[in-house]
Amino acid sequence: MPTTPDSVAGATHGRVPRPAEIGRTNVCGMSHGFETLAIHAGQDPEARTGAVIPPIYQTSTYAQDAVGAPRQGYEYSRSGNPTRDALQECLAALEGGPVGLTFASGLAAEDTLLRTVCKPGDHVVIPDDAYGGTYRLFAKVAERWGLEYTPAKVSDVDAVRAAIRPNTKIVWVETPTNPLLGIADIAALAAVAHEAGALLAVDNTFASPYLQQPIAHGADVVVHSTTKYVGGHSDVVGGALIAADRALGEELRYHQNAMGAVNGPFDAWLTLRGIKTLGVRMDRHCDNAERIAAYLEGHAKVAQVIYPGLPSHPGHEVAAKQMRRFGGMISFRAAGGEEQAVEVCNRTKLFVLAESLGGVESLIEHPGRMTHASAAGSPLEVPADLVRLSVGIETVDDLLADLEQALG
Ligand SMILES: *Cc1c(COP(=O)(O)O)cnc(C)c1O
Repeated sequence: MPTTPDSVAGATHGRVPRPAEIGRTNVCGMSHGFETLAIHAGQDPEARTGAVIPPIYQTSTYAQDAVGAPRQGYEYSRSGNPTRDALQECLAALEGGPVGLTFASGLAAEDTLLRTVCKPGDHVVIPDDAYGGTYRLFAKVAERWGLEYTPAKVSDVDAVRAAIRPNTKIVWVETPTNPLLGIADIAALAAVAHEAGALLAVDNTFASPYLQQPIAHGADVVVHSTTKYVGGHSDVVGGALIAADRALGEELRYHQNAMGAVNGPFDAWLTLRGIKTLGVRMDRHCDNAERIAAYLEGHAKVAQVIYPGLPSHPGHEVAAKQMRRFGGMISFRAAGGEEQAVEVCNRTKLFVLAESLGGVESLIEHPGRMTHASAAGSPLEVPADLVRLSVGIETVDDLLADLEQALG
């Protein structure tokens, strides 16, 4: 474990009640398999009625039995809500950490992590091809509050080590990265971060906990946009943090309540419903992506296919070491340059032209003009001929036919 940053270790405050600790029988210990945890962890049948599915507790406040005696610790839904608790417990179980916390969006989760661990004058190392919104959070918001950052190539351990400064509090990593699908060696970077007294945060959005569990490889905190694979149905925005260490987890829980960017009960419920099928969905995403990557690799109008499952990918070996399979995201560079890349995006019929990823339906986008437009002119600018696919779980032959007509 790294030295805990002062802002974490030094803070003293009243402990936010942990309703989830009370009144739950642990039917699902960590000895259960992933799919079992996805369906049952945090989701015991409801005590009063036996409802099999955690109800949507659409309430802002809770009646108290006496002054200072809230029932099971619930007093106000920003601080605690049973539907959110069910989701939080489930995510903690899936990532293998003691504390899971959910938020209104992935960026809200990131902001909470940053402002829990860092103070003005601190420094963070970020991926040089970070998710566009993450980069914007650092460059346009956190920097104004005095937080310094250095983009580094996270697939290069030496480059990350060189970017670390005495005031570095977090080494922030995405793996696979977005949209270039670079692979970071989580175990190696954990060692580098811990040597410097920094935390390793891993944005696990692209892999999902089914394919990769960063805490098992030494990460201190896992970040998710649950909007993507975790929710999986493109119907809800949300974010999550899972801490490897209870003390850090409780600091984050304090800030979750103090900063207030929580998700509502219905959003938590939808996300939890999505999680139940995460394992089977991810396997089909991977099956389809493997077929499509192989098809694109042989296509004359495609200059380069970027998919960690291909032996040609520079991060293939590291990915094979830390991931169960290689995911549903594929990027490729159009042989005909930017014009052709844009044309392919405009011509697909089944692949919907849209931002976001990780849903059951296939999506296509042009990162340079869409998700990563905010990185234009920065060190994080992406190639103009790049196309990104989020391969869904439709019939793969239909997806192949759609790409064939769009490339043709
Ligand atoms: C979408 C995304 C985010 C931001 O999450 P929101 O839910 O959109 O706020 C962060 N990281 C990655 C890798 C993402 O894809």
